[in-house]
Amino acid sequence: MDPGRTVKLTPSSTWLAPKLLRSPSNSSTFPPAVACSCPEPYRLGRRLRQISVAAARRVRCHRSMSEGSGVAQPPVGVGLEQLRGAAAGCRACELWQDTTQTVFGEGPETARIVFVGEQPGDQEDRRGEPFVGPAGRLLDRALADAGIDRRDSYVTNSVKHFSHTVKGKRRIHQTPRPEHLRACRPWLEAEFAVLQPEVVVALGATAAKSLISPSFRITRERGRLLPWTVPGAPAPSEDDDEDAPHQTWILATTHPSAILRTPDEARAAAYDALVADLGVVAGALP
Ligand code: SF4
Repeated sequence: MDPGRTVKLTPSSTWLAPKLLRSPSNSSTFPPAVACSCPEPYRLGRRLRQISVAAARRVRCHRSMSEGSGVAQPPVGVGLEQLRGAAAGCRACELWQDTTQTVFGEGPETARIVFVGEQPGDQEDRRGEPFVGPAGRLLDRALADAGIDRRDSYVTNSVKHFSHTVKGKRRIHQTPRPEHLRACRPWLEAEFAVLQPEVVVALGATAAKSLISPSFRITRERGRLLPWTVPGAPAPSEDDDEDAPHQTWILATTHPSAILRTPDEARAAAYDALVADLGVVAGALP
């Protein structure tokens, strides 16, 4: 597969992604759908809305469900605000210790694009919001330069607590371990279930490997729209309706914090590459 963007939908394109997926004329262009496995089947938002109050009655105290279980267990049949409230008390892994708070996703429930990073940083931990530090400001600028309306965007992280080590007065970012990603995954799946995004953007290697494949390489495969099955949804079948909620797309690109770490002489090019990748997403949405 070419290292460039193999899927380039023009701004004038109608959003017919699932049709394109099955179109014989595109069969050589598109890689096979990426179906993610997930530990807990989550009902999708559209179906969630069909679940009546009875489902909401099944909501139980998240603390007792999550503490010590090793895997977060979000309440089902609820919206983002209730999920955020439940996640605030999650103790499913040890990362909550020595942090200020859970940093849940932010953005409108109507968002069409969900950006998934790795984990909150130092400033995000203190403020309780994702992507508000230097990397978040760079992402905001890149979104504007790519023509993506921030109101269409929901930003979140694969892990909702700040994984770090302490050196003197500084808290140094530490990549979350696979068990942390596993423990926190149900929160992300619950966000997907409510949001039903049209496109998911994995920011950085941790999110891309977690959502697409452990063998995924950002350097080789960034900037491509890949057909994708929302985690927890049944695998797509030939008979699926074109707007079936699990028929969606994912694109991986570099994390804004990686651009901030890029040497001065190469930073402008790295930023331009991020904007170009985001432009693929902008061009795919009518
Ligand atoms: S990182 Fe995720 S799973 Fe671990 S305690 Fe925080 S919210 Fe729960």
